[in-house]
Amino acid sequence: MDVIYRYDPYAPIERRQVPDAESARQRLVEGNDRFVGLIARMQQRMLGGADVEPIVLPVCPVTMGLPLYPGAVPAQAPFAIVMGCADARVPVEQVFDLAFNDLFVLRVAGNILSTEGLGSLQYALSSFAESLKLVVVLGHSKCGAVSAAVDSYLRPEYYVDLATTHALRGILDQVQPSVRTSALAVGRKSDGLICDLDERSLITSVAVYVNAAMTALSLQREIRSYGSHAPPVVFGVYDFDMLRVQDLPGATASALRSAPASADELTAYAAEVVTALKLIEDLGESQSHKMSVHW
Ligand SMILES: [Zn+2]
Repeated sequence: MDVIYRYDPYAPIERRQVPDAESARQRLVEGNDRFVGLIARMQQRMLGGADVEPIVLPVCPVTMGLPLYPGAVPAQAPFAIVMGCADARVPVEQVFDLAFNDLFVLRVAGNILSTEGLGSLQYALSSFAESLKLVVVLGHSKCGAVSAAVDSYLRPEYYVDLATTHALRGILDQVQPSVRTSALAVGRKSDGLICDLDERSLITSVAVYVNAAMTALSLQREIRSYGSHAPPVVFGVYDFDMLRVQDLPGATASALRSAPASADELTAYAAEVVTALKLIEDLGESQSHKMSVHW
């Protein structure tokens, strides 16, 4: 299977058109779909699938956001700000199959808000107001920061150890409200002290989604307080199994969801995530039941 990057200097140059927030969201979702499709074809081939026609990817310096000739440096003009986790497995531009100059990316463990991150965001909003149409919070499955926050919630002795490191504690404390909201959504008592490690996996899976949604809610409020240019905030979670950016576990299409408008909406969303995860679990059990009957 060949993947060919092809540059034709005589092909017409299609300049990027992102006139509004919906176009920006569409561009991100379609980019993730392209990424998923390309990797899926490679995986099928790797697993012994039939060879397919070469995949030709047209490239051009201008559409890639690069200088057409040395010295012709384009002005910075991202159409979206993405606030993601620092996890090395989630390179933002690749996940959305986007180019140089498309995204203004902020990454910190647990995709949490930090003073420096918000300062960078404020700078981008004031400097690139014309091009910026959307703000995205991107979480991901199996997030180490979220897992550590869940452990510190379920096992206080684990938290005491980490809490003595000021910087790490700052991350865990920021994720804690999402963990508690997730724990309540899966039906756990609110005291948070009775350890039930069987729930760890479920709470962690829920918390990854809730944490992205909670950051998006906080960010939307923060941006509106700036007064001037306030693009809408959306969120999604990059799933390592499917390579999709999705708004619910088990989704069959890439999606970015609008930030919850209130704490009530966030709580309702947490319940929605729990339902989606339990559906996946039930489907898994019925599949394994069918297999055992078959055998
Ligand atoms: Zn992470």
